[in-house]
Amino acid sequence: MAKRDYYDILGVNKSASKDEIKKAYKKLALKYHPDRNSGKDAEEKFKEISEAYAVLSDDSKRQQYDTFGHAGFDQRYTQEDIFRGADFNSIFEDLFGESSNIFDMFFGRGFGGKRQRKGNDLQYNLSIEFEEAVFGATKEIIINKDVKCEHCNGTGAEHGELKQCDVCHGSGLQRRTQRTPFGIFQTQTTCRNCNGEGEVAKKACIHCNGYGIEKKSKEIKIKIPKGINEGQFLRIKGEGQHIKNGISGDLFVVINIKPHKFFTREENNVYMEFPISFSQAALGDEIKVPTLYGEVKMKIPSGTQSHTLFRLKGKGIEDVNDNSVGDQYVRIILKTPSKLNKKQKELFDELSKENKEKLKIEKSLLDKVKDVFG
Ligand SMILES: [Zn+2]
Ligand SMILES: [Zn+2]
Repeated sequence: MAKRDYYDILGVNKSASKDEIKKAYKKLALKYHPDRNSGKDAEEKFKEISEAYAVLSDDSKRQQYDTFGHAGFDQRYTQEDIFRGADFNSIFEDLFGESSNIFDMFFGRGFGGKRQRKGNDLQYNLSIEFEEAVFGATKEIIINKDVKCEHCNGTGAEHGELKQCDVCHGSGLQRRTQRTPFGIFQTQTTCRNCNGEGEVAKKACIHCNGYGIEKKSKEIKIKIPKGINEGQFLRIKGEGQHIKNGISGDLFVVINIKPHKFFTREENNVYMEFPISFSQAALGDEIKVPTLYGEVKMKIPSGTQSHTLFRLKGKGIEDVNDNSVGDQYVRIILKTPSKLNKKQKELFDELSKENKEKLKIEKSLLDKVKDVFG
């Protein structure tokens, strides 16, 4: 597949300044950093934008790229060369408060060592109670996944006995000479026989047939931070699939929150409906409302209409990232009596007459309402 233009990837034009390039990269990094985005393509995308930034933020690499385009540029630089020297740490510290080693991220052990392969990531959908999302919890989940074969300690070799690879004679690399319009280049690729390890099993492990992995159920403790919301995910490093001679992938735990009996959630605010009687609405009352933090008293003013929304400040949910707290909203629902007895009917007639005459409802009449409707 043809590689996309680095300028297009970052969404800047060819004459963009270093600052503009940095700004564009930061914006995209926030969107695609694998710790922020569990989407399938996020990691690929993140690598793509990071590569574009590594080249365009370096004067001499940028000039080479401008002159030769992808074809010429990629002949001159390996992937590691491209990332070498680019300053990602200060950007990540800025954006995420911590520096992450981009080489570890893309090349496993980084320069100098061999490239490390990484097992596949796993996804687990975890259903939790409404309150567990609000206050945090520790959950235990069991996942069935590839782990290192214990019998051969992941080497794939019976008794762990290895011998030098015949194909690459232990270097782990295969060299290739390529003739191109820019000259003759030697390229190195990973030895396919030994996957770059330089060694192969003398005899395949009888337990895992040489794959170095086995399926196992593993119990994993998941710490749910308070305030987590529906659809957010936790990344548990190294709890994905293991891979022979590599590192394990990651486990993504996606949070599903079970509905609550009477609370609903919008962002960090909590909503509930509270039914009151006709007389409570007409006369006003003090009611006890359940909140996430226990019952609180709330005043209903006289003449409250149905569906009026009252706010209980700070009785919502603490944000998962900062310390801000949402509110609770109580929607008053007026219960209209469905059947009236004789006495109640008389009283409504009396009320209705008074309303017609546009008279203020007298206290004595309101008291009667309370007597009749409770
Ligand atoms: Zn080899
Ligand atoms: Zn084994």
